[in-house]
Amino acid sequence: MDLASYADLVIELVNTSEPAEDSLRDLDSLQRLLQIRPHLGGRVTRRDLDAMRELRAELRAIFVAATRGDAEEAVERLNSLLIQHPVHPQLSGHDGQCWHLHLTESGSVPDRYAAGAAMGLAVKISDQGIDRLGICRADGCSNVFFDTTTNRSRRYCSDRCASRSNVAAYRARIRENADTDIRDGGQ
Ligand SMILES: [Zn+2]
Repeated sequence: MDLASYADLVIELVNTSEPAEDSLRDLDSLQRLLQIRPHLGGRVTRRDLDAMRELRAELRAIFVAATRGDAEEAVERLNSLLIQHPVHPQLSGHDGQCWHLHLTESGSVPDRYAAGAAMGLAVKISDQGIDRLGICRADGCSNVFFDTTTNRSRRYCSDRCASRSNVAAYRARIRENADTDIRDGGQ
């Protein structure tokens, strides 16, 4: 796993909070989130769940600051996460994989998750720029994403949100035209 790919941990965690339904509300949902990363497995407690929810809020705040154009605040927040969750890198070759880097092998699950997420995000920002951080603009969605388009034009977290918003915009245009027709006496 290359270092920037650890930034996926950020997206996966932050996007567990949706306005309609919080999918990180109990230990089962936390286990499900961690399943995709075998090296992050382990016993988790209620306290770990609280710590993960807190980490989620801290990571979201970085996206909020960055998309507001406040790079200084975003970076300050991320730097403080990096201090709170230092990495202790180790080469690992478990399960027949080739040697790859684990950022930290000790500490609680939230600590390890935080160390990987913060480091991945820092590498991502330094490689690709802080303006790559985005928040979905679709109504009722607040998922975060990394904009990988060449002209930094991504607005939505998913194709689903993009088409939902396009349909809504199209309907609004039709309504607006109909209103204009009525005002103009249908000329
Ligand atoms: Zn969305």
